[in-house]
Amino acid sequence: MDKTYDVAIIGGGPAGFSAGLYASRGKMSAVIIEKGKWGGQAGTTEELENYPGSIEHPTGPSLMERMKNQAEAFGTEFIRDEVLGFDLSDKVKVLKLKNGELKARSIIIASGAQYTNLGAPGEDTFRGKGVSYCATCDADFFTELEVVVIGGGDAAVEEAIYLTKFAEKVTIVHRRDEFRAAKSIAEKALANEKIKVIWDTVPEEIYGDGIVEGVKLKNVKTGEITDYRTDGVFIFVGTKPISDFVKGIVDMDAKGYIITDAEMKTSVEGIFAAGDVRITPLRQVITAAADGAIAAIGAEKYIEKTFGH
Ligand code: NAP
Repeated sequence: MDKTYDVAIIGGGPAGFSAGLYASRGKMSAVIIEKGKWGGQAGTTEELENYPGSIEHPTGPSLMERMKNQAEAFGTEFIRDEVLGFDLSDKVKVLKLKNGELKARSIIIASGAQYTNLGAPGEDTFRGKGVSYCATCDADFFTELEVVVIGGGDAAVEEAIYLTKFAEKVTIVHRRDEFRAAKSIAEKALANEKIKVIWDTVPEEIYGDGIVEGVKLKNVKTGEITDYRTDGVFIFVGTKPISDFVKGIVDMDAKGYIITDAEMKTSVEGIFAAGDVRITPLRQVITAAADGAIAAIGAEKYIEKTFGH
């Protein structure tokens, strides 16, 4: 507790790792605090082909491991803990953690976003019993079985492709008649013979007996309800920011995304935000990593101005 870090980075995903790397290379003492798994959402994305240079091992987990190791090599420290609150009454900020306190001259919020729930009946009942939000974590359980993927964005379509490595058949159920996902990803999925797409359709209910046995599907154009037997349901219907712990401290929009300027400054001096947790036109590993670098440089300037070193 005696140590005062130059930068406390909240969140161990691409934004946090990049902030740590840039802070450490700038000879600032930096610590990354993560409450869950290292790597954030990217750490559970198997197919990650759009990060420049990520050709040989284009998977999220391997890229995240390399980013973490790189930050560590330059001196970034890592703590597994949860930030519950702050004392910002002094120039040196105090982060109140579940397991103690930590002092820092500046803070970078890089806590990211997490999946949202679908809200369909049966979703909660069968969570972990056939309902999943993470293909990397659970695909193996569905080897040679049939699964349904809900959603039409990058996550749904990419994870559907990944699931074909395990499952016998993957059915994407999307509420419109075209994907939101990037064209290259969508084309790859449509060309995959293990993937079937049911357009204009939403799940009404997930049912089963102890484990998932099927979904009731509703065609949004005709209103027709059909029964679709399946062994698993993977839900990828968007994300929400992880920002509850800074509510009322930094300015955010109605959805909880943090407002920053181009230098990643929030409404509070010395607190920066980077990556998926902030309002940004693109939420990708590359934008998160770029945000983290900008935030670290901003923190360095702030420390020089405020603490004179
Ligand atoms: P997203 O882009 O917001 O897509 C969510 C999808 O779920 C949309 O297709 C949406 O339909 C559908 N949906 C939303 N609510 C629904 C509901 N109640 N019932 C049925 N369907 C519903 O979310 P995401 O795919 O999780 O991606 C989140 C962010 O991460 C995006 O910025 C994405 O680009 C990024 N990401 C990038 C990559 C990559 O580039 N490698 C991989 C994963 C995620 P509509 O299309 O009709 O709105």
